Amino acid sequence: ITLLLLVLLAPAFSSQAQTKPIKDLRPTVILISLDGFRYDYLAKYQSPNLNSLARNGVRARWLIPSFPTKTYPNHYTIATGLYPAHHGIVENEIYDQQFDAVFNLSKREEVQNGRWWLGEPIWVTAEKQNQRAASVFFPGTEAEIAGKRPSYWKLYDAKVSNADRVDTILGWLDVPSVRRPTFLSLYFSDTDDAGHHFGPDSTGTAHAVAELDEAIGKLIGGLRAREIFAQVNLIIVSDHGMATVGAGHVILLDSLFDTRLAERIFWTPEIVSIFPRAGNEITIYSSLRRHLPAHARVYRKSEIPERFHYRDSPRLPPLLVLPDEGWVLMNREGLAAMNASVNGPAKGRHGYDNQLRSMRAIFIAHGQAFKRGKVVAPFANIQIYNIMTRILGLRPAPNDGDFAVAQKVLK
Ligand code: AMP
Ligand code: ZN
Ligand code: ZN
Repeated sequence: ITLLLLVLLAPAFSSQAQTKPIKDLRPTVILISLDGFRYDYLAKYQSPNLNSLARNGVRARWLIPSFPTKTYPNHYTIATGLYPAHHGIVENEIYDQQFDAVFNLSKREEVQNGRWWLGEPIWVTAEKQNQRAASVFFPGTEAEIAGKRPSYWKLYDAKVSNADRVDTILGWLDVPSVRRPTFLSLYFSDTDDAGHHFGPDSTGTAHAVAELDEAIGKLIGGLRAREIFAQVNLIIVSDHGMATVGAGHVILLDSLFDTRLAERIFWTPEIVSIFPRAGNEITIYSSLRRHLPAHARVYRKSEIPERFHYRDSPRLPPLLVLPDEGWVLMNREGLAAMNASVNGPAKGRHGYDNQLRSMRAIFIAHGQAFKRGKVVAPFANIQIYNIMTRILGLRPAPNDGDFAVAQKVLK
């Protein structure tokens, strides 16, 4: 029986035994994205590991997302320090006139096509300057951008368990120092999934927070076992928050203008893009100005509020319709599909005004380069790129951030 026990336990012991201290770690950043982790979840739900990192490291009261508060635009802003209008990923769904092509999350061949991804993400900056980057998911890491990819990367697969994601990161730290990455990214979708499905204020979302916290705990354990926990610079961010969808807060937009006058419409419920047929922009615009209810607004490109930093892209649609927080814009087909779906309508949504409290994200950082026991004023997510290049000793590519802000969190 003892022998049997030994045989059964052997794999566990041997994997422990293989964990060796890492003595020659260079300045290293692990960028961790918790999709849709709203800033107040830290206090509202149980997350002992995240809170301990925040207490012993540095945290912003909240992180200000960029507009639109969607996943792809914000992740790529975090990676490049550029506003979405400047990095080209202006929405989760994009039309480019020059390419005459559409990009969206489910078009894998477009997601992997570097032509969409402008600017220079941190992993390209690292690779260009002879460091190595590694990624267990992060929007953009599946494409070759400016001729580069992370040395180590994975095709996005939502089914890979959180534990496996963490083990992959730890495994990359175990490679000999000449091949060891100094920039690593890790992505989890649990809080976004739960926030949509159950709403931000729900036991389902509390559960997702607890699961993510456990994954962070596993990562910390692995870093401790390698005796590099105090050294490694962990940056934990989210891309946006989550708003509660109001009951009956639906605007049937296709009944308010003649949709046949549009060449193309992206029916994203929180941000509708309209590309009018030639000569029809004013007609559609006037119709919407007249018929839109109080809870939504239509903007021509030139009218988009300056504070969104959003006008500056040739990829923007001529007309944008934005609803109030917790409201959705739909066409009849979309509404029917939503009502017929097995999961029922989403209880949480994002994509709204980036100044809304509900859209606020998180920034927690811990490690050798960061201040300890400090809470700093909220800052915009365009600042994170400079923080990372500074830690890694890289020359930053031109970006929208300001080093003065990076300085506030760094030692
Ligand atoms: P959304 O809520 O529509 O802004 O996007 C969140 C969703 O994006 C999550 O459910 C993820 O599964 C998905 N996602 C995140 N990263 C990727 C990726 N690299 N490729 C495809 N989908 C992704
Ligand atoms: Zn997201
Ligand atoms: Zn989402």
